[in-house]
Amino acid sequence: MRFKNLSQLKRPQIFEKTLGSLPQKLAMTSYAGHKAFKICELVAAIFQESYEWYGFTLAEKARPELVVDIGLTRNDLNLSDYATLGGDTIAAYQETLPHDLIINGWIHSHGALHYKSFSNTDADNHRTVLNFVAAGTRRPLAKRQIAIQDLQLLVKDSFTDEDLRRGSVALITDAPITEARILETIYGSFCYCVVVGDGGWHNQEIHYREKGILSGYTKVGSRAADLLFIDTDKTLTRVDIDLLTKEVEEKIRPNLNPPLETMERM
Ligand SMILES: [Zn+2]
Repeated sequence: MRFKNLSQLKRPQIFEKTLGSLPQKLAMTSYAGHKAFKICELVAAIFQESYEWYGFTLAEKARPELVVDIGLTRNDLNLSDYATLGGDTIAAYQETLPHDLIINGWIHSHGALHYKSFSNTDADNHRTVLNFVAAGTRRPLAKRQIAIQDLQLLVKDSFTDEDLRRGSVALITDAPITEARILETIYGSFCYCVVVGDGGWHNQEIHYREKGILSGYTKVGSRAADLLFIDTDKTLTRVDIDLLTKEVEEKIRPNLNPPLETMERM
């Protein structure tokens, strides 16, 4: 058989319908942004030194892409540039939240350090947090056809074991059919990762995961993302700052004499 040109060698078109998308920018209310930098200020003022702290970015369940608040969890240990997050810490914090709020990422400070990149420890944390928040930030991205070689069409109650030995995938219907397409939903999830530092600098990434519900298709990735401050009626008031001061005093626990092996990991 001869082809007139190479375009005839194209694979058959796979049906795909886009249903949604994942955020490309990190949107945060001005209130949440002010709160993050206020925590940096309070840590430096209360403990007389700049320590790394970590917390979570919070969103309304109905609008997971907008950070509306910063949640400060009880930090295990605050060293100058070292924080590790565990799934149990995240789960425990999620339980303290009102039911309409979800965690959609994590935020931490590099304190007075001028290191604005994410460290290897941070990269581990991104994965841990994404795994945890994926269910809350999940949305359908597409319906995509699964290319099945040798799809076998069978009719309920009228096939044999021999029929089942043939074909790579079987579709059993209640009436005879001659053609079928199998479409799977591709779900996407995201997690925000923000690092801030004294003086008001910030850097942020969005981490993504896509999953095909049937084929096992999985794709993970990340991108550097702009931070977009959104003004709302909510502002950081004097009362908010007083409450935040108490929270920082209770939850940030600087370790002034870190064990040697921890020092070496920095
Ligand atoms: Zn870091």
